Amino acid sequence: MLPGVPKPIVRKISSRYIAGPTVEDACRVVSGLNERGKMATIDVLGEEHDSEEEARAVVRAYDDVFDIIEERELDSNVSVKLTALGFKLSYELCLENAEIVVRHAAESGNFVRIDMEDSSCTMDTLRIYRDLRERGHDNVGVVLQARLRRTLRDIRSLKDLRPNVRLCKGIYLEPPLIAFQDFQEVRDNFVAALDLLLACGSYVGIATHDEWLLEQSLALVEGLGREEYEFQMLLGVRELRGDRLVRDDHRLRIYVPFGKHWYAYSMRRLQENPKIAGYIASDTINRLFAPNGS
Ligand SMILES: Cc1cc2nc3c(=O)[nH]c(=O)nc-3n(C[C@H](O)[C@H](O)[C@H](O)COP(=O)(O)OP(=O)(O)OC[C@H]3O[C@@H](n4cnc5c(N)ncnc54)[C@H](O)[C@@H]3O)c2cc1C
Repeated sequence: MLPGVPKPIVRKISSRYIAGPTVEDACRVVSGLNERGKMATIDVLGEEHDSEEEARAVVRAYDDVFDIIEERELDSNVSVKLTALGFKLSYELCLENAEIVVRHAAESGNFVRIDMEDSSCTMDTLRIYRDLRERGHDNVGVVLQARLRRTLRDIRSLKDLRPNVRLCKGIYLEPPLIAFQDFQEVRDNFVAALDLLLACGSYVGIATHDEWLLEQSLALVEGLGREEYEFQMLLGVRELRGDRLVRDDHRLRIYVPFGKHWYAYSMRRLQENPKIAGYIASDTINRLFAPNGS
């Protein structure tokens, strides 16, 4: 039914979760977050690219982002999807583009988080991460998904790199052979993965809005210095809970997507995981009736 929803309505709802079409929109949102003590990670919304030129254009878009972050002294790094950098065209091209982005980030002391996409991308995404680290780039991190059965094995095999990891549940619905299907099993794997990452000395971005997981994670990071981990949330989701983390002196980073492909991005996200549509619907209704709800 989604494509039947009028675009202006989708835009209105999306505007809560997406900064807007331009880099200026992203800066305005990040600046507001920084004022409230929250860090950010900016994502240039792109679609999967099937030409080398389009992938290079994404690399240039990230250049503009690094410039503006530096110029406006924003507290933000970037997140990047390898499929936007030519992942499906060739491994070498994608690695080359990723290396350019990471190198440009380093020039202004910035950091690049490689988002994790569906399970067809996991192996090569981790391979690109390892290649970048082995080429001497330390300002890069990766994402692991607690939904996947392989995640604890991946942590062990990345251990020698002391990887900087964003840990999340994983948005893509995957088959039972490779992924936990049960809600609590995913949570338990998240806790086990966080425990293992911390034991490996990794810096972890704990990316969840799930109250149970937040509580478990808070217990696991107790005793660590505030610079040794961070929490992460999506723009527009559980903002008051995020405020509370900041008040309690935890670092919190907000994922800020922007770009002219906002419509395709919104549709794709909803199709990948229809549960998100339910979250958005109930959140929109809650806001109508209880504008101060968390
Ligand atoms: C900073 C960040 C980066 C991410 N990067 C990736 C990535 O690279 N790869 C990947 O596969 N996944 C990524 N994700 C998505 C993640 O994997 C989950 O799909 C998502 O966070 C929902 O899981 P949850 O832990 O919040 O728990 P859930 O149980 O799914 O959600 C808990 C509550 O949070 C609210 N909520 C959660 N998500 C949304 C939403 N989208 N809109 C509105 N309300 C919502 C709902 O109220 C829900 O009840 C990222 C998430 C975050 C926070």
